[in-house]
Formats: sequence, structure tokens, C-alpha cells
Amino acid sequence: MKILVVEDEIALADAIAAILRSEGYSVDTANDGISGLEKAMSGKFDCMVLDIMLPGMNGLDVLTYLRVKEIEMPVLLLTAKSETDDKIKGLDCGADDYLTKPFVKGELLARIRAMTRRLGITPDINPKFGDITLDMKKGELICGTNSIVLGRKEFQMMEILISKSGQNVTKDDFVNKVWSTDDESAYNNVEVYISFLRKKLLMLHSKIQIKTRRGIGYCLEVK
Ligand code: CA
Repeated sequence: MKILVVEDEIALADAIAAILRSEGYSVDTANDGISGLEKAMSGKFDCMVLDIMLPGMNGLDVLTYLRVKEIEMPVLLLTAKSETDDKIKGLDCGADDYLTKPFVKGELLARIRAMTRRLGITPDINPKFGDITLDMKKGELICGTNSIVLGRKEFQMMEILISKSGQNVTKDDFVNKVWSTDDESAYNNVEVYISFLRKKLLMLHSKIQIKTRRGIGYCLEVK
């Protein structure tokens, strides 16, 4: 997997690149917004780590431009502690996640893994619960010889449900991890997408169902 790191503090850019390379990622760096954007537009990268305060063109403008051009590569924004407003702006501009500087190595790697896994980029063990399996590469839910493609949000929600192996998932968990915004519509969407997933489980003739735990959340269980 190829990662682009756009960060104007050269020592930090190099440190991030070294951490990512040590984990087997292939990395290229850019030290200003304009060259970062050019590299991001090349289509050679699977994922980008993007600082906000950059010379030439700031990270939020780079991100906005990419999304307008319908380049959907996952973007992890780097923000300084003083830039809390920028986090919100960044998520609104289409960032997938953000990391506040200074951060530790493990935190960076966990965010990169989570971000790319959500989008099915890295091959992973396909999570299972009861008779269902989530195919991380194809984005399909499988039960026996039946399979069905899940939409991106359905997929993310099912991955969270399976990862909890029958334990409760709150609406807040879904909203925070799948929608990255907490407005009212996101909460309503959780119910809508749960009903989509229930229909798909029925279509697969699975013995697994999504149980509503009133006022608490949702969990997977065997019928
Ligand atoms: Ca900077």
C-alpha cells in the first residue's frame, strides 16, 4: 500500500515516513500544499496523511479540491492542539479521520490501519459471527453459498457489529465511527441502515439477527 505524507515540518514528515516504512508501507512525502496536491492527484496513492497548516495551499483547501475532483482516497488530517475548529472543518471537507499533534507511533499506525481497513484496502482476516462472514476485499456479506454486496456505510456498521461479537453497540458508536458528525440526521440514519442490514440478513437466510436493545443500542444474536 502506498501512502502520501504531506507535512511541511521536514523532520516530522521524515519521522512519519520512517514509521510507516517500518510497517511495510511504501511512502512518498511532499512538504507544501501544492506539490502535495499534485502528488495526490497522480492516482498513485492509496491513502494520505495531510497536515493542515502548510505553505502554498493549506491542507483543508487541498482536501476540498480533491473531493471536488471526486478523488475519494482516505485522508488522515494532522492538526495542532490549538486548531480544534479545523478538525470540524476538516471532517466537513471530507477527511476520514484526524490525529492531533503530538502523537505517538502506535496512535498513527492504528488510525492508518482503521482508516484503510474500513475501506477494505488492506487484506485482512474476514471477520465472522455465527453463519455470516464479511469479505473485507469484496465488501460482501456471506452466508453459506449466498452473498450480497453491502453499501459503504452498511459495511462499516456490520464490521463494527461483528467486531463486538454479540456485545452492544450504541447509536453513538455508529455515528462517531461511520458518520463522523453528530447531527440529528446521522442518528436517524443509523436506524435506516440497520433496517437495510436486517433485510440483507433475511435475503441471505442467515440465522443471525440484529437485535434492538431499547435505549441502549444494537447487537448481533443467533435467532
Ligand atoms: Ca504544518
